Amino acid sequence: MKAITIVPGTPNSVSVQDVPEPPASDGTVLVRALELGICGTDFELISAEYGWPPRGSKHLILGHESLGVVEEAPAHSAFQKGDLVVGIVRHPDPVPCVACAVDEWDMCRNMQYTERGIKERNGFGSERWRSDPGFMVKIDPKLAELGVLMEPATILAKAWDHIRHIGERAVWKPKTLLVTGAGPVGLLAAMMGAQRGLEVHVLDRVTSGPKPKLVQYLGGKYHTGALDKLGLKPDVIIECTGVASVIVEALNLLGSDGILCLAGVSSQGQNVTLDIGTINRTMVLENSVVFGTVNANRKHYVMAADALAQADSGWLSRMISRRVQIADWQKAFQRDPDDIKVVIEFHNH
Ligand code: BGC
Repeated sequence: MKAITIVPGTPNSVSVQDVPEPPASDGTVLVRALELGICGTDFELISAEYGWPPRGSKHLILGHESLGVVEEAPAHSAFQKGDLVVGIVRHPDPVPCVACAVDEWDMCRNMQYTERGIKERNGFGSERWRSDPGFMVKIDPKLAELGVLMEPATILAKAWDHIRHIGERAVWKPKTLLVTGAGPVGLLAAMMGAQRGLEVHVLDRVTSGPKPKLVQYLGGKYHTGALDKLGLKPDVIIECTGVASVIVEALNLLGSDGILCLAGVSSQGQNVTLDIGTINRTMVLENSVVFGTVNANRKHYVMAADALAQADSGWLSRMISRRVQIADWQKAFQRDPDDIKVVIEFHNH
């Protein structure tokens, strides 16, 4: 079968290769791939900034944003042939740590977790893949091909879950949300903010293309330029760019009792000068919280499914800016300025 592979550590090694069928050791459920979403992490994997192959292998099958249809499942499992499914990305560490022991693998303490298509476990970028029933979720058939947005949505479902937990340390009635970066992660953050009734502001560099309209359709305001010119004191900021200068501006903008959620992975080596004295003083006097978030556990897949079910399907489909057939896979990795989410199609539904 065909699979999109890389050699982690070797820049630009991405290719489509014939590989053996998925081994039974990957799980009892056999899935036929329909779609695969591409994200910034895949670009980092391709440029060899990140990524680890499975033990004993040089290659890693790419892909962590899946959508597939069950071909074979054990008789008494929760899955049957024809179910639309998404695979869970992270698997717990083998120790396990206190978090992985209770299925909170997204909070793994010892970093020995594995991730499909990213860290030591083959991904979903092959014509067929296998998984154990415990590491996959069903997609509402009504969502159909939009189910490929599930995995990125789980990242924001977790971010919002943690924002709520932090907010509820005291009385919490947030009104204003600022999202920095209008890529898929930022737009899903904004969508979930709108679902919570917040006044939504989104800042990005681009001035044209689909992003401003997608924010306006949510009832939000789209901004470009410097953060300190917005005249905002947001209760919640979700930072999705990973750009050092934006992070610093976001820190300075945080209102009293504000929460800054860092959801964008930065490239390393971005040096800026910071007055930690002032930052610390302000954070203490204003009870601010800055926290990072990554990945998602099964609970967040349920939350993401709810959020996607409530969302306008027309809006969600506009998030998918390009669909590329597997035969043209190279095109999926050529960036276009108007891209939001690019999806590779393996098979038709
Ligand atoms: C994925 C997460 C993963 C993270 C770090 C993201 O792109 O969506 O599931 O935990 O990368 O590897």
